[in-house]
Amino acid sequence: MKPKILFSHLFVGTAHNFNGGCDSDCACSYSIVPPNLQELPTERGYGCDGDGEIFSVKHSLKGKKLVCSSGQGYSLSLDDHSAALVANAKAPLFVLNAPAQEILDFFAQPRDPAEWSRTSSIDYYDAQLAIAQFYEAGLLREVSAQSQITNIYETAAPLESWLYLTRACNLVCAHCFVSKDMRRMSLETGLQAVDRLFELAEAHGHPEVKIKYAGGEPTMNWELIPALHERAKFRAQETGLRLNEVLITNATLLNHERLQFIKEEGFGLSISLDGFGEGHDRQRPVRNGNPTFERVFRSVLLALEAGLKPYLITTITRLNVDEVPALVAFALEHRLMLNLNFYRPHDLTDTLAADNASLTRALQEALKVIEANLPDYNFMEGLIDRSNFGAAHQHVCGAGRNYLSIDTDGSVLPCHMLTGYNLPGIPLQMLESPRFDDFPNPPIDHRNGCNTCEWRYWCAGGCPIHAKNVTGSSNVSSPYCSVYKTIYPELVRLQALQLLQADINSR
Ligand code: SF4
Ligand code: SF4
Repeated sequence: MKPKILFSHLFVGTAHNFNGGCDSDCACSYSIVPPNLQELPTERGYGCDGDGEIFSVKHSLKGKKLVCSSGQGYSLSLDDHSAALVANAKAPLFVLNAPAQEILDFFAQPRDPAEWSRTSSIDYYDAQLAIAQFYEAGLLREVSAQSQITNIYETAAPLESWLYLTRACNLVCAHCFVSKDMRRMSLETGLQAVDRLFELAEAHGHPEVKIKYAGGEPTMNWELIPALHERAKFRAQETGLRLNEVLITNATLLNHERLQFIKEEGFGLSISLDGFGEGHDRQRPVRNGNPTFERVFRSVLLALEAGLKPYLITTITRLNVDEVPALVAFALEHRLMLNLNFYRPHDLTDTLAADNASLTRALQEALKVIEANLPDYNFMEGLIDRSNFGAAHQHVCGAGRNYLSIDTDGSVLPCHMLTGYNLPGIPLQMLESPRFDDFPNPPIDHRNGCNTCEWRYWCAGGCPIHAKNVTGSSNVSSPYCSVYKTIYPELVRLQALQLLQADINSR
């Protein structure tokens, strides 16, 4: 049998946008290694010289000691395949058949590719081809090459922002962290915010500005959105920076006209859907207690009819935990992305969170739904809370680094939760850098309790504000750690099955 290597780039372009970003309601985490998915090796494209040897191996790698990189990640066995998550590879997930695994195992100790035995049952040429592919994909590295996982890509990440267009909302959601009142962002403040974002992005080398129009319920200050969008487009053209805009909404005030605007102007649309019926209604009523599920669900369908693919955002609490499997089934049916946020209690007296055992059970049920309907897109990459399986990362999110939460009056903090808590921010015009170095968002290699965990580059330890609220310290592993550790292996197994399925379908 020939060695076969499958890479997770099969699904590129369907889940996280540029370099691992996403449209959930948190600052995205960005990858450690510049994704080079287009450059991933295929079985074609390798020159072969007169001796029947792979040119790149013979001339570039021979004499060099190579070693397997997969020790820095997680691996699992499937029936007749194996899978590995590798932090500093060009694509994070690999699925290998038995001959490919045998070749990789050969490099558990540093070896010269020429040491591969010509009498092996695996054809010499096929083995050299696999070695070349492993090397190019980052699964094999030179012994002398740096193996440390560093965040070399940080400045290439977008400058992200959460604009509080208003503090008002027409709903009274049980889990909301926003101190609500009638404050609205003025046009003048909004335009200043857009201008400053582009100035900061240019000054600090960010190639993209990402604006999340949020709140409160941003559609309650709808007029601002087209005006700020026009300015953002103008500034993007002027500076040559990329622009990425997302509306984060409860979807109760969407209509055909607004959806058309979102579509025509190329916005992302993120909709909060907190269950699939009563669970959503328990969590997201209007002020008089009336339910909202029907209304939100109609908006989701209307968005689908308009040709949009809303990104669904769910916060799981004890009020809606049982509806997670139904939500997953709905998202899969419509090929939508879904982010299941685990509720972050605001203090020790807050009892809204689902307990870890019920949360784990609900997620296990949801994974069964996924296994029965294996998606042909990157559904699982950012499904679980703050994890990101599309890219290894050092920081759970961009808070403190490349993320700005801008309040209605233009004051800035490193996270939208802090703004929602009414903490005092820095006036927009006094902000000289997107960085808030005193915000406790340590790299995962320095996070206590996480720094030796096999999941650390995919999990990154959970929200630091949540950890602080519950344990008194941000520099500890997440209170949801036991849930993550139970769910992640199963999630990776399903991702590997998904790759195998995609490979079969592509033949
Ligand atoms: S929170 Fe738990 S699973 Fe996540 S990185 Fe830390 S120790 Fe690992
Ligand atoms: S600090 Fe927590 S709430 Fe804020 S962006 Fe990061 S993960 Fe989200």
